[in-house]
Amino acid sequence: MSLFHPVNLVCPACEAPVVMMAVGSVNADRRPDLREDILSDRFQDIECEACKESFRLQPQFNYLDVGRGQWIAAMQSAKMQDHLEVEDEAETLFSASYGAGAPSAAQEVGNGLKVRVTFGWPAVREKLLIQEHGLDDVIIEMMKMHILRSVESVPLAQGIELRFVDVDEDNDGYIFSWLETASEDAIENLSVPAELYKAILDNPEGWDALRTRLENGYFVDMQKFYMGEGRPAG
Ligand SMILES: [Zn+2]
Repeated sequence: MSLFHPVNLVCPACEAPVVMMAVGSVNADRRPDLREDILSDRFQDIECEACKESFRLQPQFNYLDVGRGQWIAAMQSAKMQDHLEVEDEAETLFSASYGAGAPSAAQEVGNGLKVRVTFGWPAVREKLLIQEHGLDDVIIEMMKMHILRSVESVPLAQGIELRFVDVDEDNDGYIFSWLETASEDAIENLSVPAELYKAILDNPEGWDALRTRLENGYFVDMQKFYMGEGRPAG
């Protein structure tokens, strides 16, 4: 089931009250249209009836796609600084729904699910896109770290992030975008050759230590290395 509930908002342009149905959980097996909306950057877009300004409600929902093996706690971008707490909450919820705390039939479903925590729309969209193209999200994060070390000027700053946004079929590569997390505005795109993905894939020993750190928790995102001490190795 996909669950919606009414939320009272205020139009950021004219301050008129706006009521919208916000989603609390998305079941992509039953509502593939909602998955398409996330991929098309239009899910939870709202238009103010008074002034026609359009804006977007930040994500705060659980995403389930049994067919594609994904369970995501998709949270607002502003919660990223609390990622350890959010991971703990997601773990509790997942455990009760599909993990050790769930009935055996649900646990069987859970065994096929890759669990992730994301912050902001670009991050949850990225996880769906990675699955769509049969890629490994850990390697995508490793590519970002390689890009950070390789380019001369990096627009990385608070609220700016690097996201995989599309495949580049013409150039056999992957398109990454520097974008502003909250507004989703793209600052700069770059096409990265597919050889980089393959080089990392073919050298698991060389990347093993980094993989362990990235996979330590459900928040598989290189940005966690720039925020505090992180989770102790376990
Ligand atoms: Zn308005």
